[in-house]
Amino acid sequence: MSIVDTSTGGTLPLWIGGRASDATSTRTADITNPATGEVIRKAPMANAADVDAAVRCAMQAFGVWRETPSVRRARILTRFRELLEAHRDELARLITQEHGKTLADAAGSLQRGIEVVEFASGVPHLVKGEHAEDVGRGIDCHSLLQPLGVCAGITPFNFPVMVPLWMFPVAIACGNTFVLKPSEKDPSASLRMAELATEAGLPDGVLNVVHGDKEAVDALLQHPGIRAVSFVGSTPIARYVYETATRNGKRVQALGGAKNHAVVLPDADLEFAADAVVGAAYGSAGERCMAVSAVVAVGAIGDQLVDAIRAKAAKLPVGPGDRQGIEMGPLVTREHRDKVKSYVDSGEAQGAKLVLDGRAFEVSGREKGFFIGPTLFDHVTPDMTIYQDEIFGPVLVVLRAESLDQAIDLINRNPYGNGTAIFTRSGGAARRFQNEIEVGMVGINVPIPVPMAFFSFGGWKNSLFGDLHVHGMEGVYFYTRTKVVTTRWTEDKPLGPSLAMPTLGR
Ligand code: NAD
Repeated sequence: MSIVDTSTGGTLPLWIGGRASDATSTRTADITNPATGEVIRKAPMANAADVDAAVRCAMQAFGVWRETPSVRRARILTRFRELLEAHRDELARLITQEHGKTLADAAGSLQRGIEVVEFASGVPHLVKGEHAEDVGRGIDCHSLLQPLGVCAGITPFNFPVMVPLWMFPVAIACGNTFVLKPSEKDPSASLRMAELATEAGLPDGVLNVVHGDKEAVDALLQHPGIRAVSFVGSTPIARYVYETATRNGKRVQALGGAKNHAVVLPDADLEFAADAVVGAAYGSAGERCMAVSAVVAVGAIGDQLVDAIRAKAAKLPVGPGDRQGIEMGPLVTREHRDKVKSYVDSGEAQGAKLVLDGRAFEVSGREKGFFIGPTLFDHVTPDMTIYQDEIFGPVLVVLRAESLDQAIDLINRNPYGNGTAIFTRSGGAARRFQNEIEVGMVGINVPIPVPMAFFSFGGWKNSLFGDLHVHGMEGVYFYTRTKVVTTRWTEDKPLGPSLAMPTLGR
């Protein structure tokens, strides 16, 4: 029986020490179904005492967990992976119910999260370290990757399962314990995953979930028991989390927002590029950090490309994410939908050409849902707000450039650097693009270049504060500390004291 089903209509519990736990805080936040506009349950907004209870529990669990052999930790993760598979439909339904995205999209994001669990299940191999024999006479050297202690994860609303799975499976695989603070807008799936992890055999206290907002986040950032913080969310909060947590002596990776450009060169396959751009711009209603939100049409392809995108976007079936045949769901909250609409107003006022207007879109019988239709602007310029800001909705802006050089220059001047893509048939142009572009994840004829779990995910510039990306080996390095051990076992006679800098070779 799922902990979330039993509390439908009520207030979610926290998950501390392997069981449901009521918050001491009486403050709550509404969780809405974006397709109906109805409040479906509430989440407690944890205070410093609630956070402290979770961190203490995680600190206590750390001693035994770090000494648990890595093969045993891996087996628990393998069982957890099987439970995620077995509960795929239930988790996808929870995502759709609280976030709004379609069931197929929700299941796809769960799959990408499961792949991180698969990666983390290889932990005995991943933390092996290095060994070198005879670095000096009778001297060997080896390195250990040791866990940090209690790590915290603070996650955004747009991937309520995948982003938490970027973090805690790798952290706990490496021997850390974890406190997860999911988005207060759609936290139920995190709670359910913690319950499944316990069912998989994860010892109590290794994974804890607290719900909350700034108050809970600040308590985590200030808690002396937290060693490292992984954050994913908008750029202003990422910067705040990075600055506050590093000031408090914590290791931090803070992934921020994005404005991802797709460059379409005149030699590109027009239909293929238009299909790819429409999927990447309007999928998940544009609420993806890797969504393409700006197209740079190079040279003569511009008019045809805009026509093709408009024709395809206008036909997209928009409606409740749990309805068969729907490709695009609502936005997450009424406030966010209204903000996205106001961006469309500003684009019009600043002189961009509105080619497709989704502002008046409604779904019959779901008038209270937070819907907006696909929206397309052409002839957008870099000084316009709709280009400068991350809108995080189904609003695509098209800019024109005369050459690949101009397109690269435009993207490199943008303060974000999460993802980008180029559409071309020219290997030389693609090669130059991947070499010169100042963006962390690059697609060549691939619109959403989200790296697989065994590579690392992360942007550049204002899209990431910190040094290491999530999952892949960078994730392992983030959640471990390296220790290098130099060992001498020799049967040689002692040579007497030496006061010179040891060179080992003597
Ligand atoms: P958000 O920044 O509003 O919230 C993220 C987290 O921070 C939530 O857990 C929230 O409770 C917390 N938070 C919010 N305000 C806070 C404050 N003032 N102080 C402390 N904590 C606070 O982001 P969101 O709206 O949930 O998610 C959308 C954003 O996340 C977009 O900007 C998107 O690009 C970004 N995102 C980035 C990536 C990436 O990999 N770079 C991935 C997914 C989402």
